[in-house]
Amino acid sequence: MYPASFEYIQPTTLAEAARLLNERPEDAKVLAGGQSLIPLLKLRLAGPALLLDIGRLPELKGIRETEAGIEIGALVRHTEIQNSELLARACPLLPETAAEVGDIAVRNRGTFGGSLAHADPAGDFPAAALALEAKFIATSVAGQRTIPAREFFVDLMTTALDPNEILTRVLVPRRGPRTGSAYVKMRQQASGFAIVGVASVVHLDSKGRVEEARVAITGVGPVPYRATMVEEKLRGQKPEDRAIADAAAAAADGVDVTEDLHASAEYRRELTAVFTLRSLEKAAARARMNTSHDRERAHR
Ligand SMILES: Cc1cc2nc3c(=O)[nH]c(=O)nc-3n(C[C@H](O)[C@H](O)[C@H](O)COP(=O)(O)OP(=O)(O)OC[C@H]3O[C@@H](n4cnc5c(N)ncnc54)[C@H](O)[C@@H]3O)c2cc1C
Repeated sequence: MYPASFEYIQPTTLAEAARLLNERPEDAKVLAGGQSLIPLLKLRLAGPALLLDIGRLPELKGIRETEAGIEIGALVRHTEIQNSELLARACPLLPETAAEVGDIAVRNRGTFGGSLAHADPAGDFPAAALALEAKFIATSVAGQRTIPAREFFVDLMTTALDPNEILTRVLVPRRGPRTGSAYVKMRQQASGFAIVGVASVVHLDSKGRVEEARVAITGVGPVPYRATMVEEKLRGQKPEDRAIADAAAAAADGVDVTEDLHASAEYRRELTAVFTLRSLEKAAARARMNTSHDRERAHR
């Protein structure tokens, strides 16, 4: 099927894009990698009168290290994240998550910002962004504002972005020592989307106990969520099999679990506990490994 006709503009600066979007916030749509929007246009599930192609905006490109952490432009493609040496060193959760997105064609075109702004309930990056406590920078004619990850995903495919705002960059705070992370996923075979995806960050104290655990889950409800009950149960514990299993069992507690063609609610609830356990085991093992590396460095 062909999309309904639309006007197409490719602005060359962020200021121009923000001005154009501000003139027609209700009938314009921002186009980034097109991996989600173009199918919606073809199925006529979206029919904007204007497509604002942000693909050439230099302000939205690049991955940089700053004092506060890592800054990732909204236009950075999934493959760039997957192959970034900087991220592999400073934030390995993101390359690990990128490798799980769709297939190589999707990863070559799709963008980090597009994935987050699209807020698919089974998208991978939203879980990683939540677990990392990332901050989202949105730009409009009024200037810039920062939205914490916890406030960004509002409802099914709905974010805290206003219709006249462009997601510009994402800031990932610097991670401390004795920290490990992991993303594991049960993928839907045809599309690769998550039936369940779990991103974990585990930070150990100097005695090897969990100082902080962050667990974010996608694919299970209308929005990705932080499994706060799991996080609380783990705090202060040695991250051993039993403690992790006890905590992971609460991963879908209080969640209205989705039931669809791919999984009944009961099955998905069970998968959520199992994949949370796997994600936490991996993250904890990596935190322990980083602890011994930190010790080695201190002795050198
Ligand atoms: C076959 C297939 C398999 C896939 N499998 C997976 C998967 O396993 N996991 C997964 O997470 N995703 C998957 N995806 C989705 C893919 O990751 C998309 O790249 C992503 O969802 C959207 O990014 P995009 O750059 O293509 O955005 P677009 O399609 O261009 O835009 C998507 C939406 O976000 C808005 N938008 C985009 N950029 C911005 C911005 N900077 N500011 C404000 N709004 C913006 C657009 O207006 C639009 O509403 C799959 C897609 C396909 C086609």
